[in-house]
Amino acid sequence: MNIFEEVKERSDILEVARAIGLNLNRYNKGLCPFHNEKTPSFSICSKRQLFKCFACGELGDSIALVSKLKGLNNYESALYINKLLNLGLEVKEDKSIVTNNKAKDNKISKIENYNNSKVIIEAFERWENDTFLLLSDYRRYLSEKDDEETAEMLNIIDYYLDIFTSNDIEEKLEFYKYNKKVVQAINERFIKKDS
Ligand SMILES: [Zn+2]
Repeated sequence: MNIFEEVKERSDILEVARAIGLNLNRYNKGLCPFHNEKTPSFSICSKRQLFKCFACGELGDSIALVSKLKGLNNYESALYINKLLNLGLEVKEDKSIVTNNKAKDNKISKIENYNNSKVIIEAFERWENDTFLLLSDYRRYLSEKDDEETAEMLNIIDYYLDIFTSNDIEEKLEFYKYNKKVVQAINERFIKKDS
């Protein structure tokens, strides 16, 4: 493996981008460092390990990113990333590399952890969204009726909706933990009434 392959194998382009100071949101998008803009067109595809700007068309891998931003050639960029992220490659004078596998294992477990937590957060956000929509729909449905039982249910739903409109993640997690079945019941009941 040459130094370029080795550097890319050991590092994640997202980590490289963040380490050189690019600000990316949780969808891995940010303002393009290659042209002036107010809304983010620059995005990083973690799966393909590439960056791309949809406005100015800049495209490349982590080495190209560093090379373009720091004005270095590809070889210098590889060395730069190696140092920046402590990849543990030793480069000898004849440019051959001495590898140790500790940094490599480290990177793999880091990426795995990162991907796992991303999946969990995305699933939670999906649940949060779906539940909020369901409760809002159900509330609208209930508010069109007018009886005692409904009034009581409306209070409960309002209480739930408060949790979802607040920014209190702890409360949402509690709700997720203890009220999953309630939401499921509403869902089933609501769909039955609907049809
Ligand atoms: Zn751009």
